[in-house]
Amino acid sequence: MRVMNNNNKHTLKLCTLSGTSEIGRNSNFVEYDDEIVIVDAGYSFPGQEMYGIDYLIPNTRYLKKNKKKIKAILITHGHLDHIGALKWMLPELDYPPIYAGGFAKSLIELKMKEYKMDRKVKIFGVDRKSDIAIGKYFKAKFIGINHSIPDAFSIFLQSPNGNLFFSGDFKFDTSPANEPESDYQELSKLKGKIDLALMESTNATVPGKAPSETQISDNLEEIISKYDGRIIVSAFSSLITRLYSLITIAQKTKRKVLLSGRSLDQAILIARENRYINVDDSIFIRDKDIHKYPDNEILILCTGSQGERFAALNRISLNEHKFIKIKKGDLVIMSSSEIPENITKIEKLTDRLIALGADLMKDSVNMKIHSTGHGNQEDIKAMLDLTQPRNVMPVHGSLTFRYFHKLNLQKWGFRSDEIFLTEDGQTWEFNGSYWKRGTKIESKPILIDGLGVGDIGDIVLKDRKQLSEFGIFTVILNLSSKTKRIIGRPKFLSRGFIYFKNSQSLLNEIQNCIFDTHRDWERDSIQHKKYEEEALKTALEKQLSKLIYKKTEREPIILIAII
Ligand SMILES: [Zn+2]
Ligand SMILES: [Zn+2]
Repeated sequence: MRVMNNNNKHTLKLCTLSGTSEIGRNSNFVEYDDEIVIVDAGYSFPGQEMYGIDYLIPNTRYLKKNKKKIKAILITHGHLDHIGALKWMLPELDYPPIYAGGFAKSLIELKMKEYKMDRKVKIFGVDRKSDIAIGKYFKAKFIGINHSIPDAFSIFLQSPNGNLFFSGDFKFDTSPANEPESDYQELSKLKGKIDLALMESTNATVPGKAPSETQISDNLEEIISKYDGRIIVSAFSSLITRLYSLITIAQKTKRKVLLSGRSLDQAILIARENRYINVDDSIFIRDKDIHKYPDNEILILCTGSQGERFAALNRISLNEHKFIKIKKGDLVIMSSSEIPENITKIEKLTDRLIALGADLMKDSVNMKIHSTGHGNQEDIKAMLDLTQPRNVMPVHGSLTFRYFHKLNLQKWGFRSDEIFLTEDGQTWEFNGSYWKRGTKIESKPILIDGLGVGDIGDIVLKDRKQLSEFGIFTVILNLSSKTKRIIGRPKFLSRGFIYFKNSQSLLNEIQNCIFDTHRDWERDSIQHKKYEEEALKTALEKQLSKLIYKKTEREPIILIAII
């Protein structure tokens, strides 16, 4: 397909639009002539400084302007950092056709139904044999790999003037749970054909090989089969392979399964629909029936391994769960990793569980009960050995991770000019021989707060930040409609700012400040023969925030209500 004579070939363009320098919000696109193909459309979760924002999605400005060119959205796998933004991107881009593996397809369809978009969405299933012509120019080959969700793919995308390889999230598992191994043969067929490989970097700093899911499953089985009490396992609902292992173990050890957490219900539903998990309905029990079974016949599968406030495990630890109460003899198994910013929260959670009498087991070097779905250094090297790309672009990781990824690549024989460290929004152009940096397009993520697309501005964010840090202070002022004098005393309300009981002297000062400001306003108004209440509000806000800052060094939101 790749033609060496490039005289009348157009430039192939790649844009690493989003998710390049983090784990989340993945979306890249490739442009050739009047055609665009998008690979993945994920969302990410906001940092702690973004109050009230639910998700961040890739910037769609360029794509929207060029939406007539978009021929397809290809999906590597069904994790939300790769499909989560479809809900918002699809309507903006006039619903281009989506190509996704069975599992991702079911997950997308479920969401689309939820949002009543299912009639507009065109989605085609792909499998390990799919090699699809897209538009006039592109061909996409889906190659089966292992990750932590079934039907995960690497994608080989061919154009008339250069070919790209998207590794997707992958590891090489030599004994995967209930799915075939990565398709080594198809991967090795790409030798010599890849002009640029985008490789994930999640575990680029971890030496060795990622442990197999079967090893984890064996360890879990050993623990569970020896235990007499109730077992409570917390796992990520996105780790479908682990859910399969746990339910299979429950079946083998004759335990009933109680699912606690909505995302778990959905994941299991999809896994059963796709016949990935084949069990009888009778294995599942409802939480209110838990007392009907002896302790050694119960396995509770729940969410909340990161100490999330409203997840099942946290509610259990706070003794807030209606049916699941921790008692002596319960074993809590944390079959998950700890995301660094959650470590304190997780420890508080496990403290509470232990205090209630539970035994606890966490993943450790000696007893592996969690494995990553992302390849370590040896997996990454194996992928490169198989596919032998000419150039490599580390993605899906912070710059630090990608930097170390680059060092590994150099150690493995790549020249530094064959390795590209990119940024969000950066375009790259290929003339048939060489890649060069192109222009940068707008890539600032769009903020979603569950209401609509991009309807949250910086001002709203600032308000939310202020509110969460300093609270709110409200003044209610009763003005006579005739004389514009203040009737009675101003009333105050405060949330998260000060306790009135302890702040009498401050409140007195605030009251004096209000009377002073009002007096000035009254004098001005008489002079101008016009009473403007808005001007009074503004002046009060200004004077009060100055005073409050001076006295308390805090900046609550100040609201003035004139009645
Ligand atoms: Zn993934
Ligand atoms: Zn990912």
